[in-house]
Amino acid sequence: MKNSEEFIKNLGELIAIESVEGKAEKDAPFGAEVKHALTWFLNLAERFGFKTVNYDNYAGEIIYGNGQEIGIIGHLDVVPVGTGWNFPPFSLSEKNGYLIGRGVGDDKGAMLMTLYALKELKDSGAPCYKKFRFFVGCNEESGWRDAAYLKTKTTIPEYGFSPDGNFPVSYAEKGFYYVNINLPPFKNFSAITGGTVINAVCARAEITPKGDFDKSLLEKHGLSFEDGKIVSVGVSAHGSKPELGKNALLPLFEFLKDSGEKVDTVIDYLFRDKWGISKMQNEQGYITFSPNLAKPLLSGGTQILCDCRIPAPFTVRTINEKLSEAPLDITVIDHDHPPVMIDKDGKFVQTLLKAYNAITGKNEKPVSMGGSTFARVFKKGCAFGPEFDGENYHMHEADERVKKDLFINSYEIYKKAIFDLAALKENI
Ligand SMILES: [Zn+2]
Repeated sequence: MKNSEEFIKNLGELIAIESVEGKAEKDAPFGAEVKHALTWFLNLAERFGFKTVNYDNYAGEIIYGNGQEIGIIGHLDVVPVGTGWNFPPFSLSEKNGYLIGRGVGDDKGAMLMTLYALKELKDSGAPCYKKFRFFVGCNEESGWRDAAYLKTKTTIPEYGFSPDGNFPVSYAEKGFYYVNINLPPFKNFSAITGGTVINAVCARAEITPKGDFDKSLLEKHGLSFEDGKIVSVGVSAHGSKPELGKNALLPLFEFLKDSGEKVDTVIDYLFRDKWGISKMQNEQGYITFSPNLAKPLLSGGTQILCDCRIPAPFTVRTINEKLSEAPLDITVIDHDHPPVMIDKDGKFVQTLLKAYNAITGKNEKPVSMGGSTFARVFKKGCAFGPEFDGENYHMHEADERVKKDLFINSYEIYKKAIFDLAALKENI
């Protein structure tokens, strides 16, 4: 990598900006620090000689070249620090070959690499037959209002990639739906409370008995009784991979069944998949369904919210028809995350893939993802790095870190991909 010292210095400056979403202020819709990160980034791009646009501090754009438009989008906002750090989160640390700091993996590191790669292209003087439109997002972690705003202010290129996912390259992303189920009140117990967010497997759930109950059932179902509450503890996992977790709601429902509550249907469908939806597969993967949140309803009943992901070419209709087979009060909530897929043998995907394979010496194929990335801002979008398969950057966790040599590798991949796209005379 050329200018690697300068790159590390810039990365340190960018990590030092605490760009967690803050209170909206005048001209700073996501707070002063997020605006600061955007201004800093666009200023650097201008110093590098690029034309930039600031979309009212919702997002920015860096432009280079002429020809068919190719989009790139990542983000400068980061998730809150949380607990458990052994290093200062907003300062770039280097230890045992790792670069450590909030945003080093998600997504400030990859944003800066993309900018440096575009600079190398520009400085090389190589012919560029594409117009790169590099969008700088500011609200990826908390609502995608940056992307929504961009769509009202400018056109979005048809093809684009997002350096905010995984290598090698994704050509499909599952659609993501919330499924709401309202259960009537239980006879002898309160409503269930459980889970923290919809996209993580429920790791803790509890219920309050209204009177006496059979305490021998606690042990049978691995439950405990604390402060008048029956508690179930499971193991969390990302909502797109529920099979890696252990849902805390199931032992609670089995306990309720043994205690004489009418929850057979809930167990059969929600936890034993009586629909058979997990068998509905295609080349892009399988449908996942995970009941992750439980909340009391005003009626005294329980609301269960489920994370449901479906691979294209399945659609929301596929899942609606299937779920309606269950005799439950069930609604699918569509929140504009349909399944997406582009031609995996097409020029765009293949150019990105070849850059990855050339630098790593591997022979990977394009992959399909369960998670949702910024790539879906483009009609034909790919998530492209920066996380390597089998590596854990501890994104959204304490001590977020990236191996420095992998960092350099990902830079070379982005650079090759950008140079190769620029060299394509014909339209993709
Ligand atoms: Zn991200």
